[in-house]
This record gives sequence, structure tokens and C-alpha cells, in this order.
Amino acid sequence: MRFISLGSGSRGNATLIESAAVRVLVDCGFGIREMERRLGLAGVDPASVEALLITHEHGDHLRGAIPFARRHGARLLGSNGTFRGIDIDSRVRFEAINPHADGIPLADITVHPIPVPHDSREPVQYLFAADGKRFGMLTDAGSITPHAVERLRGCDALMLECNHDPDMLRDGPYPWSLKRRVAGDHGHLSNRQAAQLLAGLDTARLRWLAAAHLSEKNNRPELALRALLEVDHGLEERIRILSQDRISDWCEV
Ligand SMILES: [Zn+2]
Ligand SMILES: [Zn+2]
Repeated sequence: MRFISLGSGSRGNATLIESAAVRVLVDCGFGIREMERRLGLAGVDPASVEALLITHEHGDHLRGAIPFARRHGARLLGSNGTFRGIDIDSRVRFEAINPHADGIPLADITVHPIPVPHDSREPVQYLFAADGKRFGMLTDAGSITPHAVERLRGCDALMLECNHDPDMLRDGPYPWSLKRRVAGDHGHLSNRQAAQLLAGLDTARLRWLAAAHLSEKNNRPELALRALLEVDHGLEERIRILSQDRISDWCEV
């Protein structure tokens, strides 16, 4: 199994996961042309994407999802709450997943949903298991739950939200109400919270740690990196800070 970030941040998110048997997109937060362009940069034919898993209905995750599923015939999966929050095109069939299901098969990948506290209808994050390896994703979570910690323990690769530096958010340009939303229990994880989560996980098997969903106004890559390295300096070679405008390298899990 391997993954590549096609972009990460408040202006759009998409991650492609590929196994021997299947290609799965998590979120489709760019317009369809931009999604196709980024997939092309990754060397992936959009028509080869079998399934599109949506985490929640915010535009930075959903933007191109319906047109993409329609044009390329991808299955569209997400929680029932997420789909109730979307004006679904009747030509697109969506498959509601149970966020508490203990493993949903997608060819040779097993998907484990992780319900998260975030200010949308029924948000989920996902962990992917294939061939004895596990890749866990956690972004758009306002706080860390015991269940998320349990799920993400012992992963071979992780994508963790490092949305903001708390001081930059406090002193930054956002209006007070938005600051309160971002920092709240149903907002976004800070660098500090990501580091706390990481400290509670067993990282011995970790090959990749991708810092995701960095705010362009309230964070800087070096601050996210520093917070993660404070947990374990040995991780330096294995950390990637994801970008809004660039796709990442492929990461072999
Ligand atoms: Zn988001
Ligand atoms: Zn969100």
C-alpha cells in the first residue's frame, strides 16, 4: 500500500491510497479540473479511482466530489450524516457507511472509520489496513478522543492534522468568533495537540508521519515540524509537511 497527498489545507484536501488491487481517494476538495491535473502529476488516470471516501461535507473536502464521481464512475462513500448535508446529484449513487463499523472491505484494503469531533454533521476519518500494514488519517478533529488514540496506535504511516500554532492563532487576523471555532473542541488540532496525540502512540513502526491541514495564516511548517520533533527527534527523516499547492511524494507504507 502507498499514499500520496494531492494537497492539504483549508483551500482543499485530497489523498490517494493505492494497493495492489485498488485506488481510493479520500476527499476531493479541489474542483474537478484541478483534481484531474493533480492526479495526472501523480501519474494516476482519474478513471482508475474506484472509490471516493468523504470525511465530511465542508467544501475543502467535498468541492469536486460529486462531479468527479459522476464523470469517472467512482463509488462515493461516507457517513449518512455527511450525505444528508449534501445536495446529492440524483445521477450519483452514494453508499452510507457506519462510522462505528469495524472494518469495511474495499478490494484488498480494509477501511476502519474513526468518528471525530468536528463541526459538521457526522464527520469520520479513516484508517486503511492492507497486507499487514496500516495507514491512519486524522484531520479536522477539534480534540483527541480515546477511540482515535486506540485506532491510530501502532500504525506504519500516519497523516495528522497540525492546523495551527496556538500563539499565531491568538495573535493572528481571524475574527474572534473564528478563532474560537478553530481552537474549540469541534474545530481543528493544533501543533501542540498533534504532538500530544503522537506522544500517546507507539511510533516504533512508523515509516511516515505526514503533517496535514496546516493553516496558511496561523501556522508555519517549521513550527509544526518542531512540535512533532519534540516528541521524538528520531522521526526527522520520516516527517513530511504537506502543502496546499503541491502534491507530495508517494509514501510506501
Ligand atoms: Zn478541512
Ligand atoms: Zn472541516
